Amino acid sequence: MLGPRQEFQAALFYEFNLEDHVPEGHLLRSIDRFVDLGDMRKHLAPFYSDIGRPSVDPELMIRMLLIGYIMGIRSERRLCDEVHVNLAYRWFCRLDLGDPVPDQSTFSKNRHGRFRESDLFRRMFESVVARCIKEGVVGGDIFATDASIIRADANKQNSTPKDEWNPDNLDPNTVPRAVKEYLEVLDDAAFGAASEVKPKFTSHSDPASQWTGAMKGPAFFAYATNYLIDTDNAIIVDVEASRAIRQAEIGATRTMIRRTRDKFDLYPEILTADTAYGSADNLNWLVNEEGILPHIPVFDRSKRMDGAFPATAFKFNHKENEYTCPGGKPLKKYWRKMAKPRSGVSKDGFMRYYARKSDCSTCALKTQCTPNQPTRKIARHIYEGARDLAREIATTDAYVDSMRRRKKVEMLFAHLKRIMKLDRLRLRGPNGAKDEFLLAATAQNLRKLAKLIPQTA
Ligand code: SF4
Repeated sequence: MLGPRQEFQAALFYEFNLEDHVPEGHLLRSIDRFVDLGDMRKHLAPFYSDIGRPSVDPELMIRMLLIGYIMGIRSERRLCDEVHVNLAYRWFCRLDLGDPVPDQSTFSKNRHGRFRESDLFRRMFESVVARCIKEGVVGGDIFATDASIIRADANKQNSTPKDEWNPDNLDPNTVPRAVKEYLEVLDDAAFGAASEVKPKFTSHSDPASQWTGAMKGPAFFAYATNYLIDTDNAIIVDVEASRAIRQAEIGATRTMIRRTRDKFDLYPEILTADTAYGSADNLNWLVNEEGILPHIPVFDRSKRMDGAFPATAFKFNHKENEYTCPGGKPLKKYWRKMAKPRSGVSKDGFMRYYARKSDCSTCALKTQCTPNQPTRKIARHIYEGARDLAREIATTDAYVDSMRRRKKVEMLFAHLKRIMKLDRLRLRGPNGAKDEFLLAATAQNLRKLAKLIPQTA
């Protein structure tokens, strides 16, 4: 049964008003101006029974959770202790001095139950983004995206190597919650369907987490938190949990771009990101499907390390469908007529153009062009147009500005790990990661709002 709203009930037998003991400039006082949980009770009401004992006020629990993320208190037990003794925390939670603080087990029940079923944390995150837009701190023109790896609550001792792991052996009716969630996301683009490559190890306690060695040290199990930010004031406009692999992170960015457009009518003109997002397929999606300018370095494996002419020294002729080399000779896909027409596109989406052996063998530029091979070849992606556009953008001053703006998303991740201490998840499963990332991003946006919009006396 949904319990009554927590309200200040000042005791009659002493003269103590919490309001007077929270300094004007306290971070929580600044943030409180932007926390509007007015419609949360209405939203949660259908998830409570009409009979039974009144529950702890959900708004109180949400305010306590927010304190945990804003102040970097990662343990729920410690959070309850801190709220008990800290006057500013009590004030933020609308608890008077004598009011009891909920037990930590209450959080667990609500987090995995009503809060998750009602998608409460996403709703709360989006309401804070809407407030940022309303306050005029979101420009909406230049977005940046990136992902950061966060350790999962899983370890290698409790895992299985890839040859021995088979999800078909798991019974969804008997496995723990995190394993059940893993089975549910096997076809999800941000998780199971992101790659066909099996991870080297799979955790028993949190199988959706990714075994990764991406942090240049011993490998571990992790999730990725993906941010899409507006670069004017580094406001996080969307956040998404995914597997800690590049394909999943790119998929998460696409989800976030579509969602911010549908939810907030935000159509960025520019997206800036690092090389991980510079694949031909992704650049094409941005340019030709979304109409967004990619201020992203092109992911290019064709770069020559031997000092030979780069691919950009070869000019493409669309009409003839051939390249012209620095020596003025053509490079074609096929030099003889094919009985059956072929597309010439390989599995990886590239077409190869070859110079004629007789041209190269007599060419004065051969040592600068193809020192170790009899002929020069150039690979062209089916989405080369989008790659060319990205290369062209990379020569502009606007690109230099975008690269500077991109750093803001990295700074948010540094803040997330160092100040908010979210370097290891406490909750398991994709939903646990999702909840933690949403709450952390909400807290970061609230801190930013408090900083950008000073209190007036
Ligand atoms: S080596 Fe071949 S491809 Fe290179 S410049 Fe000479 S003719 Fe052209």
